Amino acid sequence: MKAAIYPGSFDPVTYGHLDIIKRASAIFDELTVSVLNNKTKTPLFSVEERVKMLEEATADLPNVTIDSFSGLLVDYAARKDIHVAVRGLRAITDFEYELQIAQTNRKFSEGKLDTVFLTTSLEYAYLSSTTVKEIASFNGDISECVPDFVGRMIYEKYGYKR
Ligand code: ADP
Repeated sequence: MKAAIYPGSFDPVTYGHLDIIKRASAIFDELTVSVLNNKTKTPLFSVEERVKMLEEATADLPNVTIDSFSGLLVDYAARKDIHVAVRGLRAITDFEYELQIAQTNRKFSEGKLDTVFLTTSLEYAYLSSTTVKEIASFNGDISECVPDFVGRMIYEKYGYKR
């Protein structure tokens, strides 16, 4: 059975992430989407909120499980006995960063953790969690970026009722 991990911040989950999740879940038998608890970033949503959001957004995908982790991806993947990480690529700027991370993970796992890249669907190429937060912070329209229930949670954080 082929299993993979899709790690990320997902702060918040966007249609870009959901597109990658759907496509990866069609390729692998089991997909674990895992929220990275990154102590160096100040997220808008807690890890628990992000896990709940992802659970709701992927409820229709039976082979997708939501989890969270702290520390190194290679250690987490080894604990779960999973040997493939999935990442999404939007642009050249993603590529440079992702290439370095993928090679580091391969080296530090002694070849046990490989990375598979899925290229973004064109309609989501512009989309990032950062952009979504910026638009929402000015009460702009994010309905094309995130599911409605996620949108409501974001506006609430910025004190808007919509
Ligand atoms: P990180 O903070 O670790 O970069 P993100 O939550 O921003 O995590 O993203 C997780 C993964 O999803 C990354 O591989 C990122 O490139 C990918 N991703 C984010 N937005 C999109 C998008 N619109 N289309 C395709 N992949 C995306």
